[in-house]
This record gives sequence, C-alpha cells and structure tokens, in this order.
Amino acid sequence: MKTAAILNKNQLSKDDITHLLMLQDEHEIELLYKKADEVRKKYCGDEVHLRGIIEFSNYCEQDCLYCGLRKSNNKLKRYRMSVDEILSSAKAIHDTGIRTIVLQSGEDIYFGSEEIRDIIKSIKTKFNTAVTLSLGERSFEDYKMWKDAGADRYLLKHETANVKLYSMYHQAQSLRDRIGHLLYLKKLGYQIGSGNLIGLPFQTIEDIAEDLLLCRELDVDMASISPFIPSPYTPYKHHQSPALTDTLKTIASARIVLKDAHIPATAALSALDEKGRERGLRVGANVVMPNFTPAPYKAYYEIYPNKYLTTEDPVKRTLRITAMIESLGRRISASQGDSLKQKVLA
Ligand code: SF4
Repeated sequence: MKTAAILNKNQLSKDDITHLLMLQDEHEIELLYKKADEVRKKYCGDEVHLRGIIEFSNYCEQDCLYCGLRKSNNKLKRYRMSVDEILSSAKAIHDTGIRTIVLQSGEDIYFGSEEIRDIIKSIKTKFNTAVTLSLGERSFEDYKMWKDAGADRYLLKHETANVKLYSMYHQAQSLRDRIGHLLYLKKLGYQIGSGNLIGLPFQTIEDIAEDLLLCRELDVDMASISPFIPSPYTPYKHHQSPALTDTLKTIASARIVLKDAHIPATAALSALDEKGRERGLRVGANVVMPNFTPAPYKAYYEIYPNKYLTTEDPVKRTLRITAMIESLGRRISASQGDSLKQKVLA
C-alpha cells in the first residue's frame, strides 16, 4: 500500500509528491485528504484566518501569457482606485473584524514608492491590522521602504518552478529573479507568500511536485495554490482548466509537505466550483480572502472570468463565508493571523 506508506513519512520526496498528485483511486484520494486535514489540525488548529483584499489597480506592465490583466489585453477596462477609496475599503475590512488587509494590483508603477508607503502608514496608523502587499516585482529599495513603513507580508507567487516554462509564460521575467526577490523580502523580515498555478499549458505533474519543493525550500509562510482558468484575450484562451480534484490534491499534498504554512482556499477555487472554497478548507486550507474591492472595479479585476462573480456587498459576503466556515466546525480567528512557523499546537 504505497500511498499509506507515503502518508506516514515525515519528509516527502519528489517521487512521493508525484505519486500523491497522480492518485486516481477515490479511496486513496480520500486517504490523502484525511491526512492533510489531520496535519492542518495539528499545525494550524481549527482557526480560519480571513484576509480582506483590495484590488486597487488592474493596470499591469507585464504580459504574462495566462493572465487577463496582461498589458496586451486592450479589451479590459482599466481602473485605479483613489487613495480615499483604498482607505475607505480598508475601513470596511477593519469594521468587519478582519485583521489583515491585502493590497493587490498588477505591476503598476503609476503608484510610486512614496504613495504606497503613505497608504501603508495610513492603514497602520488608523487600523489595528496586518498589511500584506501583492504588487508584483518592485525594486529592492521599495521593499525596504514599505517594510519600514509597517508592511508585514509580501505575496509573490513563483507560479511555476520550471525555469523554461517560467520564461515562456512571463517573457520579460526570470525564475531566478523571482526567487531572488522572495529571498530578499524574507531577509527584510517580511512573512513571505509564494505559490503556483495548477493546470498551466505544458506543465507536468513533476513540475507541480517541484513547485511544492520550492515552497518548502523557501520556507514560505504562506503558499497559494490556484487552478489555472483560461481568460479570453490571452494566448491561452483555448486551454482547459484543470479538474477541481487536481487542485485539491495539490492543496492536500502542500499541507503535508509544508505543515504549518498558511494555505488559502482561493477565490479561483470558487470560480471553478461553487463549493470550491469549502472543499479547499476540508483538505488542508486554513485561510480565506474575502474580496473588498468595491463596485464597479471588482468586475474589472479579471485575471480570469469568474462565473460566480457576485455583486453582493462585501460585508454580507463575509458573513456568508463565516457561516460556511462555522458549518465545517471551524472558527474565525480574531488575531492578525501571523506566520505559524515553529508553533506546534498541543
Ligand atoms: S500575473 Fe501579475 S504580473 Fe502577470 S500580467 Fe497578471 S497581474 Fe500582471
């Protein structure tokens, strides 16, 4: 019984992870999910951390082949939120009781170093929250300035650990640079998040196993694992999304490999399946990121088309997410949900 033996190991090899990702037998997949849920409970407990996300600009300098925000997509209506709008969304997040604010955008240098610094300072002064930045690759000086201003975390997904595929998807960027940025962010004291996309064109199961090993090597505080969803007006518009099970198997394997890293049940899971988030939480995830980008902007942050996109008020949506989490026997964390590294629950 190879699967059971692998699930009993403390440290998984690339072959072990590949085996888990390739499972087809329903009973064995259930064993994987069960083990992942046990590891989640042991290292993360039953708390689910909410992070309120503000997508404040959908402009992007980059041209990643899989992304609807790529600069060549001239069909997308572009927007930038004003600083007042960003702070008002931050207040809505804080008023809902969420203690992490995620500032996300495409790589948009229109928002200069000082402007981002001032937004971070305003949020940290006005609200009792952690601040996560997800702004793509910026200069090392910017990272330092923003850390000094109070930013706590930086999310910079590596997307694929395959050097050749990375160069193909990202054109002007390299995997080496991406890893260099992550290491520098860590050195500055940020809690770092990385992660990958599942089902990218030309990606193999072995590539995905390497993605998880890279997250382990980087000792990430957070790993975001999302399905690739084809976006119209991109070169990959005719490729298929992976089956939900492929992403769930990766989340479960990531939990076993990474143990105490935060793992979100991403919005892309819900874009693939109405119950996607819930299923992610059952197989190792411990974070949910409710979207507080206000209308009409939210509909334009279209990395991929979201068939379950709702115009529901973010506060009501958060209440609905909270009820779903509690129905799983889990509870919402009241803390800022910092890195769980080194902390093993009794
Ligand atoms: S993946 Fe990020 S950097 Fe690449 S085009 Fe999309 S928003 Fe821009």
